[in-house]
Amino acid sequence: MTIGVLGLQGDIEENVAATSQALQELHVNGTVDIVRYTEELEKIDGLILPGGESTVQSTLAAIQRSLPAIKKRISEGMPVLGSCAGMIMLSKRAYDRIIGDTKQKLLGNLDIVVERNAFGRQNDSFEADLSLAMLGKEAFRGVFIRAPAVSEVGKDVEVIGKLNNRIVVVKQKNIIGTAFHAELSGDSRMHKHLINMVLQFKNKNGS
Ligand code: GLN
Repeated sequence: MTIGVLGLQGDIEENVAATSQALQELHVNGTVDIVRYTEELEKIDGLILPGGESTVQSTLAAIQRSLPAIKKRISEGMPVLGSCAGMIMLSKRAYDRIIGDTKQKLLGNLDIVVERNAFGRQNDSFEADLSLAMLGKEAFRGVFIRAPAVSEVGKDVEVIGKLNNRIVVVKQKNIIGTAFHAELSGDSRMHKHLINMVLQFKNKNGS
């Protein structure tokens, strides 16, 4: 299998490393490719949208005209993990407490509304242990950097994790969004979960 990491901006290499570690630990034969263009997006079986700065990512994706290709692959069921800015990219609408609707170009595959910088700005970045039943009993260490929170979820969206009563992990079919950086904790369980979704999706589609 080939997992793509969207290579526009943000912690791209960290996601490549976390995915490679997860493939190894699962003994799954696969490669991790940094992808940017439509042709590259057609060759992957799963995608990671890294954390970083969502306005920069959407502007670069628009310039490279890759948004429609990403949107199409995800709407066809290709598994995807979006962390932090990546989750914002997947959302239907994003706003900021100070400026309101941020009017950025979004993919809109994930039926959620997000509040950007919901936990404060850079100085308010923090780590927290989260209980995520989807990944097993052991707590997952979330690294929150200028993190968003989910403020509204559509009817097909499962709430997977909360912190201080705010929604920080969601799942809608093969789409996972996390408000924290799953690739920065050294715990590869979230990336393993994505790989397992890809295995299931490939089995179902007979490829
Ligand atoms: N605050 C950033 C945004 O709104 C996201 C931060 C992150 O990805 N660490 O795009």
